Amino acid sequence: MTRIEFINRVDSELVPFEFDLNVICYLSINHLKSFNRINGVERGDEVLADIAAFLRKNAVNGLVARYSGDAFVFVIPNEWADSFAPYIAALLPKTEELGRLQIMMGACAGRRPMSANDCVARARFACEALSRTGGIYRRFDEELQITFDKRAYVIDHIDDAIARGEIRAWGQPIVRVLTRRVCEVEVLARWESEPFGMLYPNEFIPQLESHGLIHKLDLEVFRIACEYWSRARDFGIQIPFGINLSRLDFELCDIYASMRAIMDRYGVPVDHVHVEVTESSEGQHGDVVVEGLRRFQEAGFSTYMDDFGTGYSSLGTMADLQFDVIKIDKSFVDRIMVNDRARSVLADTVSMVKRLGMQTLCEGVETEEQFAFLRAIGCEKAQGYYFSRPVPHDQVFRILTDGASAQEFEEADPYYDAVGQVSLLDGTSAATHGVEAATIYGRNPIVLVEVKGDRTQMLTCNMAYERLLKRLGFAAHDDFVSYLLSDARSDYARAMKAARQAYETGEEQQFDIILGSTYCSVSVKFVARHGDSYAFLNIATSIDNAPQITDKTLLKGILSNPDRKYFWKDNDRRFLGANQAFLDYYDFAGLEVILGKNDEDMGWHVDNDPFRNDELRVLAGETIEGAHGICESKGQMRRIIANKRPLYSNGAIVGLVGYFEDVGPMEGDETSW
Ligand code: C2E
Ligand code: MG
Ligand code: MG
Repeated sequence: MTRIEFINRVDSELVPFEFDLNVICYLSINHLKSFNRINGVERGDEVLADIAAFLRKNAVNGLVARYSGDAFVFVIPNEWADSFAPYIAALLPKTEELGRLQIMMGACAGRRPMSANDCVARARFACEALSRTGGIYRRFDEELQITFDKRAYVIDHIDDAIARGEIRAWGQPIVRVLTRRVCEVEVLARWESEPFGMLYPNEFIPQLESHGLIHKLDLEVFRIACEYWSRARDFGIQIPFGINLSRLDFELCDIYASMRAIMDRYGVPVDHVHVEVTESSEGQHGDVVVEGLRRFQEAGFSTYMDDFGTGYSSLGTMADLQFDVIKIDKSFVDRIMVNDRARSVLADTVSMVKRLGMQTLCEGVETEEQFAFLRAIGCEKAQGYYFSRPVPHDQVFRILTDGASAQEFEEADPYYDAVGQVSLLDGTSAATHGVEAATIYGRNPIVLVEVKGDRTQMLTCNMAYERLLKRLGFAAHDDFVSYLLSDARSDYARAMKAARQAYETGEEQQFDIILGSTYCSVSVKFVARHGDSYAFLNIATSIDNAPQITDKTLLKGILSNPDRKYFWKDNDRRFLGANQAFLDYYDFAGLEVILGKNDEDMGWHVDNDPFRNDELRVLAGETIEGAHGICESKGQMRRIIANKRPLYSNGAIVGLVGYFEDVGPMEGDETSW
């Protein structure tokens, strides 16, 4: 390729062009790496050379620099800047080969006392902003200026900010889905800066990371959080909290030792701190991070994988490291209400995480609908604006002391953890791996019930159970329990007995409930106990009357029985119909042979009277069962047993129906029994 002069630093005093009349442009070629991989480095060089040649031809005084592997810096006249990008884009037509490559260009007008180098930095900043906003060209403007200044400010002032107490540790409550009570708090950094007011993490974390300063912030946030924790403890509140660590913290300092020192200072125990680590966008947790996290785990800290579902190797990391909690990213929760597939993915993820013996926490919960779904799929913890936004410490304190949402009793933690471990998909828990669920929401109704003294309450259930309740005509589990408790029924006592046995033996027990047309076989397992509260898992298998079987299909089935010869007659004992078995028995070609005739017309019986009298009795309302008789079939005298009953319509007898069975040939001269 053409050799390109490399200027990384240009001094504005020495620049060989009219600084104020021109703009400095930063041009980046995206996806060059993968282009090289597919088409070869030589082909990549050719493309770069073409672009370079074009730039050189147009640039003021031919001033072009290859700034890095996939970026050029060049100078063009001010008035060209806004229309230049499309020309360069046209150098890369959307062919199959070149289509992958994408051009983005930022520009900054020369303005003294800025140096050319300052201009390059701003043009580059404008170019990089395009990856967030889209588009192929952006001039460095007022809006970018503010972000640009903030970025520079952050890097230069982190030490001052810590010294002046500008760093804040806000908290966002995390709620246990089963109880809706706050079970811990996530600590989130804020920076109350003098020139810009409140700065949010996305405005300072990436910068601090890229300049190797992030550990300073993280340790300060942690120190403040520990201070708050000890202050709350003085009021009798001991709430576990979580701290976000950057992957770089593990490389930049001995984060474990530094945190332990802070905890010693404020008397915070390890089981009250969890550390959250996010997947890096490069997708790999370096060995340093994995080793670092192990150290925390061995010392008794809980570890949370943050933003699950956004990184590239979340599943890989999850397989390598046993986290305590997997935090599912907000982007998933957002899709719950709009996307069936997202719901399946989430339900299965929750179940998979449980099977691995970890918990799930969903971030960014904003509505009751989302929360209800998470409860239905057995997600253990939730966090989001629906419960509270991140707030300053005094507000966190208020939430923790407020009756409704107040913190759960700490001792109950292991109890709810055990209950939360049960998968609502299939009723398995990490401790009792087993049956793989066939459908997302679980085929079988599952309900977790807490028994306390003589009271029971539902802890959680899956959707199949909600559907079952609805079908049985109950609005809620409590209504169902009240019904079972009603005098006429013994189901409740049987269920309680099974539960007691499940607790005493530690083995699964069964009981049956029949409700209307629904038969349920219920298996009950003991899950956990806390004081006088016992949690039980109930999985029902229900069998319903099949709705596809109608009177018609039923009648058809009955009449097709080859052993039972059915016939039906009107009030005058004339045949109205008979089944095929009847016709076959007498070898009749069709119904027409008998329709409208009575027994006398048919000349069947030697003596008609007993038969006629029987039928008259039936037409008067009697039922005749198991009447023995003799009749002739295909030239042979045979013994039969007959049954007849009246047919009613609107309360009046309109005829009779009967059937008989052949029980063998007549023996000797026997004529009757
Ligand atoms: P994160 O750890 O995933 O924290 C959750 C983020 O989601 C927070 O943003 C929180 O305000 C936001 N959030 C929570 N619930 C909702 C909701 O219902 N709706 C919406 N729209 N957003 C919600 P924030 O505070 O801006 O923090 C952003 C990220 O910055 C954090 O994501 C974390 O990765 C990082 N971060 C925050 N504080 C620190 C820190 O002290 N050190 C380090 N290294 N990173 C931090
Ligand atoms: Mg976090
Ligand atoms: Mg997160």
